[in-house]
Amino acid sequence: MERALEATVPKYVYVFGRGHADGSAGARKLLGGKGANLAEMTNLGIPVPPGFTITTDVCRQHLMSHAMPDGVEEAVAVALERLEGFTGKRFGDDGDPLLVSVRSGAAVSMPGMMDTILNLGLTDRSVEGLARVSGDERFAWDSYRRFLQMYGEVVLGIDHRLFEWRLTKHREEAGVHQDSELAAAHLREIVGEYRKVIANHDAAPFPDDPRGQLWGAIHAVFESWRTPRAIAYRKAYGIPHDLGTAVNVQAMVYGNRGPSSGTGVAFTRNPATGEKQLYGEFLVNAQGEDVVSGTRDPLSIDEMGEHLPEAAEQLFDTAARLEAHYREMQDLEFTVEDGRLYLLQTRTGKRTARAAVRIAVEMADEGVIERHEAVLRVAPERLEEVLHPTVDPSAEFTPLAVGNPASPGAATGRLVLSAREAIEAKAAGEPCILVREETSPDDFEGMVAAEAIVTCRGGRSSHAAVVARGMGKCCVVGTKALRIDEKAGLIRANERTVKRGDWLTVDGASGEIIPGRIATIQPEPDEHFERLMSWADDVRRLRVRANADTPADATTARRLGAEGIGLCRTEHMFAGEERIDTMREMILGRSAEDRQRALERLLPMQRDDFVGIFRAMDGLPVTIRLLDPPLHEFLPDDEEEISRLAEATGRPAEDVHADVDRMHEANPMLGNRGCRLAFERPDLTRMQTRAILEAALIVQAEGGDPRPEIMIPLVGHVAELENQRALVIETARHVFDERSARIDFGIGTMIELPRACLTAGQIAGPAEFFSFGTNDLTQTTLGISRDDSGSFLPAYVDAGIYAEDPFQRIDRDGVGRLMRIAVEEGRAARPDLKIGICGEHGGDPESVRLCEELRLDYVSCSPFRVPVARLAGAHAILVARGADGADSTTLA
Ligand code: ADP
Ligand code: MG
Ligand code: MG
Repeated sequence: MERALEATVPKYVYVFGRGHADGSAGARKLLGGKGANLAEMTNLGIPVPPGFTITTDVCRQHLMSHAMPDGVEEAVAVALERLEGFTGKRFGDDGDPLLVSVRSGAAVSMPGMMDTILNLGLTDRSVEGLARVSGDERFAWDSYRRFLQMYGEVVLGIDHRLFEWRLTKHREEAGVHQDSELAAAHLREIVGEYRKVIANHDAAPFPDDPRGQLWGAIHAVFESWRTPRAIAYRKAYGIPHDLGTAVNVQAMVYGNRGPSSGTGVAFTRNPATGEKQLYGEFLVNAQGEDVVSGTRDPLSIDEMGEHLPEAAEQLFDTAARLEAHYREMQDLEFTVEDGRLYLLQTRTGKRTARAAVRIAVEMADEGVIERHEAVLRVAPERLEEVLHPTVDPSAEFTPLAVGNPASPGAATGRLVLSAREAIEAKAAGEPCILVREETSPDDFEGMVAAEAIVTCRGGRSSHAAVVARGMGKCCVVGTKALRIDEKAGLIRANERTVKRGDWLTVDGASGEIIPGRIATIQPEPDEHFERLMSWADDVRRLRVRANADTPADATTARRLGAEGIGLCRTEHMFAGEERIDTMREMILGRSAEDRQRALERLLPMQRDDFVGIFRAMDGLPVTIRLLDPPLHEFLPDDEEEISRLAEATGRPAEDVHADVDRMHEANPMLGNRGCRLAFERPDLTRMQTRAILEAALIVQAEGGDPRPEIMIPLVGHVAELENQRALVIETARHVFDERSARIDFGIGTMIELPRACLTAGQIAGPAEFFSFGTNDLTQTTLGISRDDSGSFLPAYVDAGIYAEDPFQRIDRDGVGRLMRIAVEEGRAARPDLKIGICGEHGGDPESVRLCEELRLDYVSCSPFRVPVARLAGAHAILVARGADGADSTTLA
C-alpha cells in the first residue's frame, strides 16, 4: 500500500527517519538548507528526530497561486503516516499524541527571519493525554502554552505582547523569574487565558484538530517568505526574492522535560575569533527559541558537562564529525531529551571576517581544504572588516557598563533607542548606536542603519549577536547593568545616564559601553591575515595600487600591500587655511604677476607633499593627476568667507563677489575643468609639473628611487593631451637643466569620457599609460550625475532597471564595453601601453573581475580596500579557472 502510493506522488515531499533520507545535502535548492542537512545528518546516522520536507518548489507555486499544487496534500498524508510509523505515535491521538514542529528553511539561511511553530498537534484533549503518558503535567501544559503562543502569533497574526504580558503577570504573581519555574497549575491558567486571547481576536479560530493546525502552519511558513522583515533581509544580503522556502515537519523532541533535558546552539569554531573550540550556549529544561531569544540567560557550552554529561560528550563528538564531513565550520542546534542528544540543525556558521580568515587558514593547515579553497572561502568585501577599528588602548575613560562582546569592532555614534530612530539618523547622515532591551527580527533595518548594536539582555547567540556578526557590525549583548528608560529617552547604568542623541562609543572586543566619543585606531593585520594574503598573491595577476594623497595614506596603503599609487589627487593639497587663501589669490589675482606670485608660493607646498609621498612609495610607481576640479570649487560660497577673502587680499568685497559669480557654471562636472582648465591656465600645469619633478629629484638625491607618472585628466581629444604633454616636457627640460640632473617619468591620461574610449587608438599616441576614471566615465556614459542620482537611482536599482548601483559596480554592458574598446584600440596602437583603473570601482570585487577579464595591468583603490582588491584579484583568476568552492562564506 505504502509503496503504491509513493509511486504516484510527485516528489513534493521528502521523508527522513530511521537512518535513511530521500534527500541529501546536495538538494539544498529544492529542500532548503535546513531540510537538506536534516536529510544528510540522517543518512550519516546522527540522531535526528524523523520528519519530512515539503519542497521550495511547492512554495514557489503557492506564492504564485495562493493554493497548494495538486498532489501535495496526498503526499503530506503519506509522509505523515510514515512519520507515525517511525515514532509509534499517532498524529491527532488524544492519549499519546505525535507532536511536530513546522519549520521554515530556505536555500540560503536567513536566521530568525521566518517562522517556526513547535508542539503542533496539541489540543485541549491531547494535552491531558500528554500529561498522563509523560507523567509530567508541568511539561504538558508548558508545551501547550508555547504552542498556543506560537500558533497565535505566526498563523493567526496576533500581537505577541498580548501573550507576553500575561506570562509576565503570572511570573510575577508566582514570584518566579523564569518560565521554567511556573507550576502546572499556573501554566494551565495561562493556557486558559491564551485561549481567550485567541477567541477574542477576530482572526480565524484556533483549529481543534491537528490536521487543520498543520495546514494552517504550512501556509503561514510559506507566507512568511513575504513578510517585510524577510524582504528587507534579502535585500540587505542580495538574496533573490524568488527562491522560496521549504517547510520541514518534524517529530518533536522535548528539551523542556525536566532537569536532564535542555536545548542549545553551538559553533564548531569560535565565530568571533575563529579559534578551534566548541563555542555555544545551552539551557536546562527549555525549548527552542529560549536560548536565542534572550529571555533567559544561557550557560556556556563548557559547563554542559556538569549538567548533562553524556549528552555533552556526544555533542562534542558529533560536532567534530559534522565539521569534518562538511569541511566547514558548522553552526548546530540541538536538544537533549532525558539525557539523549538530538541534532535539529546544522549549517555553515556565520562568522566575523577575522574568524573567516583564521578558519580558512587553519583548515588549510590541518589539510582539510586546499590553499586555493582557503583563498576562495573568504569573501573579498569582508576583508575590510578584519582591519576593523578598535578603541584606542591609551584612551582614558570609565565605561558606563560592560556587556558580552558579541561582534568585534569599535564604533561611535549618537544614542538611539528604536529601529525607526536609527533609520532616521542614518537618513540624516548621523552615525548612531542602537540600544535595545533585546532585538527582534523587526529591528533588522534599524540594525543595518546603526554603527553598533547594544542589548541589555541575551547571550552571544541571541538575535542581535547573530545578525551583527553577519553584517560585520560591532555588537555588545547582555549588558545587564544597563537600564533603558524609554519615556525619559535615556539609558542608565551605575548611577550615570546617557541621553538620546548623546554620543556613545561601543567596544565590540571588550564589551564596554562608553559615554562620549572615544578615539579609535586601526589594527595591524595579524598572522592569519598575512598568510591568506600571501596565498592570494601567489595566484593574482593584476597589480594593486592605492588612491592616496598624503604620505600617511601612502604608508598605510603600502603596509596593506599596495604596489604603488594609482591616483594621487592634487586638489586636496590645497585645503587648509593658508593654502586655500593662496589658491584663491592664484585664481582671482588681478594681474598675471599677482597670479604668478601666488603660484610660486604654492609650488614649495606641493613639492613638500610629493617628497613625502615619493619617500613612502620608494621604488614603486606614483601616478599624480594634475588639477582636475573646476576652479570655483576653491572659492568661498558664503558672505562671511567672501568678506574674509576680500580683507585678506585688500580688495572690495563687491569685486570678489563679482569674480565668484562670473566663475559660476550651470553644469560644472561638464564645465571648465581638467585639461580644459589647464589649457586656459598653462601656468598651473607648469607649476605642478615642476613641483612633482623637483620633489622626485630631491628624493633621488637622497638615494631614493621615486617613480613619478604624470596624469592629465578629462582628455576627450588627442589634441588636448598633446597640448598638455608638450607643456610637461618643456617644463621638465627646464627643471632638469636648472638642476643638472634628470629622472625618468611617464606621461599618461585619465580615460573618463566616452570620446576618449572611442578614440583610444589616437590618444595612445602621446600616452604611455591609461587610467580609467570610472566615476566620471559612468556619469558621462549613462548621462547620470552621481550627485543628483539619489532621487531616482535607488528606485531604479530596486526595480532592477540597473541590477546594481553603477557607481558601486561597473556597468558591464555600457561602461565595460567602452573600456574594452579603449583597451583593444589603445593596445593595438601602442603594445606596451600600461592600463589601470582608479575609480571607486577599483575596490569592488565584481569590478575587479571585469578588470581581470580585460587584462588591465592594475587596479587602484582606497588604502583600506587594498587587501580586498588583492583577494578579489586572486578570486578572479580562481573563478575563471573553475576551481570549486567558489561560493564564499558570507551567506551560507
Ligand atoms: P530558525 O530557522 O529560526 O532557527 P528552527 O526551525 O531552527 O528556526 O527552530 C528553532 C528552534 O526550535 C530549533 O533550534 C530547536 O531548538 C527548536 N525545534 C525545532 N524543531 C524541533 C523539534 N522537532 N523538536 C524540538 N525542538 C525543535
Ligand atoms: Mg534554527
Ligand atoms: Mg574624473
